[in-house]
Amino acid sequence: MWIDTHCHLDAPEFGADHALTLSQRRGAAERGVGLCVIPAVERSNFDTVRRLAHRTGDAYALGIHPLYVPRADDSDLAALDAALTEHRDDPRLVAVGEIGLDFFVPALCTPEMRERQVFFYRAQLKLAHRHGLPVILHVRRSADILLKHLRERPVSGGIAHAFNGSEQQAMAFIELGFKLGFGGACTFDTARQLRRLATELPLSALVLETDAPDIPPQWLYVTAAEREAGRAQGVNSPLELPRIGAVVAGLRNIPVEHMAQASTTNALAALPGLQALEPVT
Ligand SMILES: [Zn+2]
Repeated sequence: MWIDTHCHLDAPEFGADHALTLSQRRGAAERGVGLCVIPAVERSNFDTVRRLAHRTGDAYALGIHPLYVPRADDSDLAALDAALTEHRDDPRLVAVGEIGLDFFVPALCTPEMRERQVFFYRAQLKLAHRHGLPVILHVRRSADILLKHLRERPVSGGIAHAFNGSEQQAMAFIELGFKLGFGGACTFDTARQLRRLATELPLSALVLETDAPDIPPQWLYVTAAEREAGRAQGVNSPLELPRIGAVVAGLRNIPVEHMAQASTTNALAALPGLQALEPVT
C-alpha cells in the first residue's frame, strides 16, 4: 500500500462538487493508495477538508498555510485552537498543517510579512504542542529559520513537505524527528540535487506525496510554450503517487514493493494518527 502524505483534494482544480476528487481517489485506491492526508490552508477550509476526509476515508490536518497569512486574522488562531479541541477525538485529524514559512514569494518577503509569517508559525507550533499533534511543514527558502523556531518550540515531529533543501538541513529535520516529503519534483531529470537527496538520505526518513494539484510529475508537466500551443496542464492527483514511488525506488535501486512498504511505515511513524485508520480499498 501507498500513502499520499500531502494532497489538497479540496482544491478547485478538482471541481467545486469534488466529483473529480472522488473519481481520482477511487482510481488511486485501485492503484494501492490506501490513505491520503488532506491539509487545510486557512480557516475557511477547515470544515471542507474535514468533511472531505470523512467522505473519502482519508485523513486531514488543520492549519494556516504561509501563503494565506496575508489574509489571515489573529482570531484565526483561536479558531484553529477551537477546531483542534472540538475534533480532538476525530481519528481522521492527524496533524497541524499546513504551516510554515515561504521566503520565495516576493510579496511574503517584506520585513512585515516575514514577521507576520513567523508569528503564525510559532503560534501554530505552540498549538501543535498543546494538542499533542505532529506538524506538516511548508518549507520554501526557509529551512534554517523553520529549524531555529522548532528548536525553541519543539513538537512531536511531522513532515517537512516538498523538501528541497541541503543535506545538512535534511539531517537537522531528521534529528528533530521529522520525515521528508518527496513528490513530483524529483521525477525531473534536471532536479539533480533533489534526486541525490532522494537517493542518499536514509530510507527511514522518506515519505511520498503528490502535493496535488500542484507540482505535477515530469510525465504530466506541460511547458509554457506547449500551453500556448493549446495543450492543457495535466492535473496532478493521488493517482500519480505509485509512479512517483517507483521513480524514487529506481533512483535508490530498490524494488518498488520495498519502497511502498518503507514509505508507508515512515508515514505511519510521522503521523501516528494514521495507524488507527482503515486503508481505502
Ligand atoms: Zn500543500
